[in-house]
This record gives sequence, structure tokens and C-alpha cells, in this order.
Amino acid sequence: MNDHVLVINAGSSSLKYSLVDASTGKAPAAGLIERIGESQGRHIHRGPGGEAEHTASIPTHEDALRAAIDAFGTYGPSLAEVEIGAIGHRVVHGGSRFAAPTLVDDEVIAAVTDLVPLAPLHNPANLEGIRVARRLFPQLPQVAVFDTAFHQTLPPPAYTYAVPLSWREEHGVRRYGFHGTSHAFVSQEAARLLGRDATNVNVIVLHLGNGCSASAVEAGRSVETSMGLTPLEGLVMGTRSGDIDPAVPAYLSRKLGLTAEEIEHDLNSASGLKGLAGENDFRELARLRANGDEGAGLAFDVYCHRIRKYVGAYYAVLGTVDAVVFTAGVGEHSPEVRAASLRGLERLGIVLDNDRNVARSTEARRISTDDSEVSVFVVPTNEEWQIAREALGLVRSRHGD
Ligand code: ADP
Repeated sequence: MNDHVLVINAGSSSLKYSLVDASTGKAPAAGLIERIGESQGRHIHRGPGGEAEHTASIPTHEDALRAAIDAFGTYGPSLAEVEIGAIGHRVVHGGSRFAAPTLVDDEVIAAVTDLVPLAPLHNPANLEGIRVARRLFPQLPQVAVFDTAFHQTLPPPAYTYAVPLSWREEHGVRRYGFHGTSHAFVSQEAARLLGRDATNVNVIVLHLGNGCSASAVEAGRSVETSMGLTPLEGLVMGTRSGDIDPAVPAYLSRKLGLTAEEIEHDLNSASGLKGLAGENDFRELARLRANGDEGAGLAFDVYCHRIRKYVGAYYAVLGTVDAVVFTAGVGEHSPEVRAASLRGLERLGIVLDNDRNVARSTEARRISTDDSEVSVFVVPTNEEWQIAREALGLVRSRHGD
């Protein structure tokens, strides 16, 4: 059975790939190629026989994908034997145009190219990954899976910014939301853990990784999310500020003579936990905080306060909440963040079980008390599996099987 999908996530100087069995989520092989175009690139391939690492010059994304194909040949599994049913590409910005996984053709490539101004760092790299895969795997269907697609169900009051009509109508200024594959995956997992159909539950999802976003998922559909036109809005992140007064950039531009690009750079790359504590990696931040570092203590408090504020807001948006779900690096691994973010919400029916919260596990699990009205779950996200399922699902529906 050709249940396998090669999932590709192409960045500006990197290419991640994963061979995923769409029916089980198992990944018999995966790899990461970094520093494409630099003098010395790095390629790590993990297959059935273990892990192999190489350093070599990898000038282009095409060279990177060829190196991945070679690694499958050398270290397995053989791509010819596993019978790939589709290639699934992560694409960051699908604008208002793409609300579902989409079979790639020239017209889709042109439409994703038109969206480059909305995601100037990501979409060009994603497109390069698609072009290269089409050249090297011309016989396979290529499917684009968009980070924004799951949030295309947001109703107008949630996605509309109160800004001039021409900004909205001519320039696409609105909330799009990101991390959609992760929000889709973990909200479905939450329904599964509740033993109910996804169309029958309301979930607040907290995706806390390097980038962080929250969403309100009503009956399986995203109805509110914290990231906006770009991934800068919302929660405090590793290096991104999240919400600030929109007047701050103009104020700094007048005061310091900074350009729009300089301010945008600092809000994306020098803010968040890094701006507050000089450290964007959460593990390191936790260590600094444990040693009494004041900046790290403040960063932790600001981070968790912002999460709690969004939980309250999304509770009001949904009216009834069945589950709150933590996912991604920090959400899956930091009991301190989970406890601090939900502290004092017992009156909302959210009651954590301390032992369950601190117990270590890599499984999806409940961390609320048995009689907590709202279940709280930790669910390891699996964006590759979600991309594989969506890609193969689309290809199969096209073939009518
Ligand atoms: P990405 O958004 O790049 O996919 P991840 O979901 O891998 O990111 O999350 C990365 C973040 O998770 C980093 O800040 C990292 O420090 C944090 N993290 C990973 N493991 C742990 C852990 N055991 N405890 C606390 N934080 C962790």
C-alpha cells in the first residue's frame, strides 16, 4: 500500500524531510539539511539503521533534495520499495485563497508567488522546495499544505482588523493565523482523548514552541487565533514580541530614526523572551530563572500572563470549553508554564492535577483532575503526520478511492 508521504519543509537555507506512514504516523526516516548555499552544509539522516551525519557543500535546494534521495538509497529505506503516494509540502502563507490542502500545478505556484509579500521570508523558500520536488519527482502528486488554511474558518468579526477599507480590500490586511496544521492535529487528538467526535467539542489550543500561538476551535473549526497578518501577533514567543501597541513602531521611528525594516526585525528577532531575558531558548531561560535571574523571572511571568489572558478571552469566545490543550516544545515539556498559565482559573472549571502535570511522558495525556469540568491535556504535536494525512487524503479523493 502506498500509504507513505514524503513531507518536505523547505526554509531559506534549510530543508527538512520526513517519510511518514500516513495511516500510523510512524516515520521510518527523516532528515535535516542546513546551511544550504554556505561554504559548508550539514546533512543529518535518520533511518532504520540509525543516524548518519555529513558535512559538504550543498549549493542549492536541488542539491539538498538530491542528497536526501541519496541518503535514502544508502541508509534506507528504499524509496522505490516504500511506494510514496504523494509529496506533502509545508507552505506558510496561503492568504485567503487556500482553505485546504491543494494539488500543486503551475497556477497554484503562481498564486503562492502572489502571496510572497505577505510572507517574504517563508513563501519563496517553500516554493523553491516545491519546484525542486516537481523536477526530481515528476511522477508524484505534489500537495501544498498551508499553515494558514485551518484558520480560514474564522468568522469576519474574528479576522477583521478595524482599519481603513482600502487596506483590507486592496492589500489583504486581516488576521490569517498560522501553525494551522498543529492546531488541527492537537484539537482532533483532544476530541479523541475525550472519546467524542471533533465536531462535538470546543477546545482552546496553546501551541508553545519557538513561535507561540493560541486558537479557539469550535466543533472542529478554528474560530479565533492569536497570530495575525504575520506570525508576529499574539503570545510572547522566543524572539517575537507578540501583542504590543501598534503605535510603538511609529514612536520608535520618530525617536530613534529607525526604519520600518529595522523595527520589524527587532520585533521578530530581538524581542519576546530574548528581549526580556537575553535568552530565547526556554530550557536556558528556566535555568536562569531557577538561579534567581530577575530578567528571566519577569520573562516567565510576562509569558504566562499573556497565555492566561488568551485562555480567558477564548473561553469567552467559545462560551463552553471542553478542553485546554498544551503542545509544542514548551507546552509539552514545561509543567511550570502549564501551572502558572492556568493558575486561578478554577472558577472557570479548569483544575490541574499537580502530580499528573509534573509526571514525565511523551504520550498524549490528561493533566487535569478527574472532576475538572474542563479537561486539560498535553498532546505532542505531529505536523508531519497531519501534512501526510491531508496530502494523501486529497490524492485519494481525487482518484476516488
Ligand atoms: P519550533 O517552534 O521550532 O517547532 P519547538 O516546538 O521544538 O519549536 O519548541 C522549542 C522550544 O521548546 C524551545 O524554547 C525549547 O527550549 C523548548 N523546550 C524543549 N524541550 C524543553 C524542555 N524539556 N523543557 C522546557 N522547554 C523545552
